Amino acid sequence: MSGIDALAGLAETSAPTVEVCLRALRTALADVGEGARVEARTIVGHVLGLDLTGLMLGGDRPVGSDEVARMVALARRRLGGEPIQRVIGEADFFGLAFRLSPATLVPRPDTETLVEAVLVRLEGVERPVLADLGVGSGAILVALLHARADAIGVATDLSEEALTTARGNAERHGVVARAGFVRGSYASMLAAERFDAVVSNPPYVESAVVDGLDAEVRDHDPRLALDGGADGLDGYRRIVVEALAALKPGGLLALEIGWDQGESVPALVAAAGYEEVAVLPDLAGRDRVVVARRSHASWRASGDAK
Ligand code: GLN
Repeated sequence: MSGIDALAGLAETSAPTVEVCLRALRTALADVGEGARVEARTIVGHVLGLDLTGLMLGGDRPVGSDEVARMVALARRRLGGEPIQRVIGEADFFGLAFRLSPATLVPRPDTETLVEAVLVRLEGVERPVLADLGVGSGAILVALLHARADAIGVATDLSEEALTTARGNAERHGVVARAGFVRGSYASMLAAERFDAVVSNPPYVESAVVDGLDAEVRDHDPRLALDGGADGLDGYRRIVVEALAALKPGGLLALEIGWDQGESVPALVAAAGYEEVAVLPDLAGRDRVVVARRSHASWRASGDAK
């Protein structure tokens, strides 16, 4: 039975139960591969407002025809090639659910490496002041503020729509009172020497490569969040300069990078005058994060060191 036939069958079943819907959607989504079982749960849970426990305990619950129709519509979009997170408008990141909009990337598990690297390095810092440049859905900043109840942070983005989405996610996770949202490019508008950590997952894909990305990325993630210019490094060139001014002496810079930027980005960071530049791998062992510190003794850079 093809995916679409399985869906038609589901739509015609009178008063199916949760269990019947799960099975039918799993069959329908078989074409998406190994994830079919999980994605079937995601769609059914999303429409019925149930988490995994609710789905497991509520297998006998009858499902109304309008709910079935919504499940069928979502499964059709998935079969049409939309990523599951776009279909339900939500993605999990660092154990929290984030709403998405067309102006935001789907947060990637790879980016959790960046959040972890920052949290470890902020352990000794009380009431840290953070900035997330190009905040998108807010995943990084909200995860950080959620993990550190004493932190405050500013989010910047070129996209008003992304800022609205990020603010909504901050509200949802109870951190909005500790977050500010500012429209603009990277750190250009931020106060000097104010931040304990500046973090960013800027667009870093080479312009010529964007069109060759997986269709699920190319056709559904915003180009503004992917395209890093001819060599993929345009964002970093701006960020290293602007963040240096925004950071307190000794403050932390933490950047996500592409798997093949483990030499180019650290070189830019070091050339801008940062110290303790290091590259960290993601869970798959690929270069994914660059960390560095603004020098404690920044005046030395003026040549006064003896
Ligand atoms: N990691 C994303 C991808 O695989 C790119 C994200 C970015 O450019 N910041 O396409």
